[in-house]
Amino acid sequence: YRRMLHLELNNIVMRYGAFVALKGINVRINDGEFVVIVGPSGCGKSSLLRAIAGLEKITSGEIVLAGQPIHHMPSSKRGLAMVFQNYALYPQKTVAQNMGFALLMAKTPKPEIERRVSEAAKILQIENLLSRKPGELSGGQRQRVAIGRAIVREPKVFLFDEPLSNLDASLRVDMRIELAKLHKSLNATMIYVTHDQVEAMTLADRVIVLNGGEIAQVGAPMDLYDNPRNKFVAGFIGSPKMNFIPGQFGIDDKTPTNAAICQGTLSVELPKLATMPDRGADITLGIRPEHIKLEDADYSTPMDVTVSLVEHLGEESIIYSQMKDGSSIVIKSSSPVYFSDNQQIKIHLPTDKMHVFDTHDDAIAMSGARRGN
Ligand code: ADP
Ligand code: MG
Repeated sequence: YRRMLHLELNNIVMRYGAFVALKGINVRINDGEFVVIVGPSGCGKSSLLRAIAGLEKITSGEIVLAGQPIHHMPSSKRGLAMVFQNYALYPQKTVAQNMGFALLMAKTPKPEIERRVSEAAKILQIENLLSRKPGELSGGQRQRVAIGRAIVREPKVFLFDEPLSNLDASLRVDMRIELAKLHKSLNATMIYVTHDQVEAMTLADRVIVLNGGEIAQVGAPMDLYDNPRNKFVAGFIGSPKMNFIPGQFGIDDKTPTNAAICQGTLSVELPKLATMPDRGADITLGIRPEHIKLEDADYSTPMDVTVSLVEHLGEESIIYSQMKDGSSIVIKSSSPVYFSDNQQIKIHLPTDKMHVFDTHDDAIAMSGARRGN
């Protein structure tokens, strides 16, 4: 028996009065997939999830679950379960009663409720907490109960809206791992909303990056990291974020390869581009902090920068520095470095790790094989 619980979002538009929160969302989520919707605050993540759940009406478009349109159905008929950031547990009920409450309301037979609650408790490792009240639980335990409430309903699709945002940092990492395991063991379709790109990168089979009510890119985490389609995705995925250096495209006199002139004088060799911008056209060069090399050999085009601050993170160091024109550039070293403030250092930007963006902030495709492929 194979479920076919794929979910199609076809041209979803949602307005709040004159404001358009979702501007035509098209994506298909596969059966059993863990999809993370990520983007900055206000980009429409919750609106999209609430539309799927049936808590918000869409203005136009269709939501199709397993081949059946569900956007006209009331929330309770869609067979989905949502877990919120601000989950409310009944303080007077025990953990078991909280978890089974929706089933009780749906007149599910008692033995069946008990079976499902104990099964969910086992998966979440909260069997020993079933008779406790929420007030006697830690934040992480309460969040488990909220997830348990969703599991017992055996939904066709799980919807999570920033469920870990209220937890402290180390608990968030623990719960993230728990959720990844849960997805594996349930083999369920999960849609998870977060503003945290690390959560997106670590949890998702596929990530949907939203920006201003539109999909900026859909892809596997490493695909977004390696091949961001535009400057927004390039800057949003990865930490510290990608450096952007403005420049002009030009053919370097000395070499036959592509080159950009940055800061008026500095010539930087670019990767081979599939389409050549006009000579002199404005471009933005993108390079991730972890891809910049500290000069220890004779590179042909070193760049001189001035160190303003070094953060030591144990094995790694983050170097905040300034280029000649005063604009900042961040470098991540995979080994500890010790520089004094205002020290001049030489860096190298490896051509094969560069990204090039046009004046519309779209990535210019590379010609030939590309890293990550
Ligand atoms: P996110 O979850 O990504 O932070 P939301 O989906 O909550 O974003 O909101 C998207 C946009 O829609 C925001 O600009 C927000 O102010 C607006 N919005 C959300 N809910 C309403 C509402 N009920 N009425 C009017 N505007 C809303
Ligand atoms: Mg939200």
